[in-house]
Amino acid sequence: MKALVYYGSGKISWEDKPLPKIEHPADVIVQISKTTLCGTDLAILRGGVPDVQPGRTIGHEATGYVTEIGPAVQDLKVSDHVIIPCNTSCGRCEPCRKGLHSSCERGGWLLGHTIDGVQAEYARVPLADSSLFRIPDGVDEEAALMLADILPTGLEVGVKRAEVGLGDALVVIGAGPVGLATILAAEFYSPARIIAIDLDDNRLAKAREIGATDTINNKDGKAREKVMTLTEGRGADAVIEVIGNPATFQLAQEILATGGRMANIGIFHKSTELHNETLWTRNITLRMGVVDNSTVPVLLKMVQAGRLDPSSLVSHHFHINEILEAYEIFKNAAQEQAIKIVLSTDAAKKAGSNKVSNDNEFIRQIVERVLASL
Ligand SMILES: [Zn+2]
Ligand SMILES: [Zn+2]
Repeated sequence: MKALVYYGSGKISWEDKPLPKIEHPADVIVQISKTTLCGTDLAILRGGVPDVQPGRTIGHEATGYVTEIGPAVQDLKVSDHVIIPCNTSCGRCEPCRKGLHSSCERGGWLLGHTIDGVQAEYARVPLADSSLFRIPDGVDEEAALMLADILPTGLEVGVKRAEVGLGDALVVIGAGPVGLATILAAEFYSPARIIAIDLDDNRLAKAREIGATDTINNKDGKAREKVMTLTEGRGADAVIEVIGNPATFQLAQEILATGGRMANIGIFHKSTELHNETLWTRNITLRMGVVDNSTVPVLLKMVQAGRLDPSSLVSHHFHINEILEAYEIFKNAAQEQAIKIVLSTDAAKKAGSNKVSNDNEFIRQIVERVLASL
């Protein structure tokens, strides 16, 4: 089979690898149908995730079909159509019992991190019964793919931890894939304003298209003043920080209203300053964490009911054999107007799932690129 293999900073290759095998009784093998690239994959590529060893197949968001089950698997069967979420969990250890599946003592972020991941034609998924989600009939597979990471991350780590509520002024800092997914999830709670802040006008346009009431391009560094104007000088009831750098963390603190709640989704690589000296009298709450994927079943119901369409976050389609080209596009996301890039395998074609590798879209992109190069 083919897989995307990481060979150290900046080096990836699409190459042959042996088919994965059942290694533990609770494993299943999944034939990947669709997978997608994540900002975390780019961090790995930059050498920013040292736990990822050279030789590792990366990728942690996919959908596919179960082709083999281990002897301890009870709830899944061969041919089940499933979401492979970013974190796996046993459901039985102490953190799992507390609902902290991302901190599972036997699981957590394994795929594409400490074991081979899902940017491949097949993948071994451990702790399968308690980790995979069956895709109900009538749910678009690309919508389901968005539930492997970005939608539950936006909802669980962002919207729920910031306690977004009816009539709130919400600010989302960062309108990349996770920021946009956060906006979609926030709409379930009916905030009065959803203000998106970014440096990229295309992403801000997308934010407006999917539900942001106001957008701010912070190229001029005036986001604080603009949020204050939009909120009659009070600031935001809820701020969700999706970037993970000291400047945006500082901005988040400056735009919080009294009693405001801040949730951090962004992954920080540096320590930051928390201004207790000005925040302590103002009843501020700060929360952070990693997605537990506990809301995937609810999100699937919302997709099934037609009340959530996360496939609107898909900007590009490729066949998985074009994955290196897809990475080039994703690395230049702003220039290429890329949000989520879906890669489909021949399994998707066989299953007749819709929007398969979207040949027309692919041809359109090629023609556009050729025309642009003339
Ligand atoms: Zn991800
Ligand atoms: Zn566990």
